[in-house]
Amino acid sequence: MVEITLNTRQKAEMVDITVKVREAVRECGLRDGVCVIFVPHTTAGIVINENADPDVKRDILDHLARLVPSGGGYSHMEGNAPAHIKSSIVGASCSVIVHGGELVLGTWQGIFFCEFDGPRRRKVYLQMVPSPGS
Ligand code: ZN
Repeated sequence: MVEITLNTRQKAEMVDITVKVREAVRECGLRDGVCVIFVPHTTAGIVINENADPDVKRDILDHLARLVPSGGGYSHMEGNAPAHIKSSIVGASCSVIVHGGELVLGTWQGIFFCEFDGPRRRKVYLQMVPSPGS
């Protein structure tokens, strides 16, 4: 398993970790298989989406904020219920196919760590799973 650490800077933000994941795949020597990307946090998540136009990230974060507003009458006493709900919507993991040692992503796709209760020091775990017979 590989552990990536990152420091988020804002309450809510999407951090492109594609390069870090790509480097980890190369360092592990995985040629063909799957890289599982897992976030061990209850107020963060992971998504694959567009890395070309930064407005896409802004739209995702803005619309999640509208969907799960702060002060929405939540029971959770810590005050960060919206972050827990956004984390549940986005999900804690994704998997990317690795072929010939490279991540198989679409032209405009990137892998984003989603912070919903920052700024904080965060972790991402990666597990390289080789294809049978590779
Ligand atoms: Zn909480």
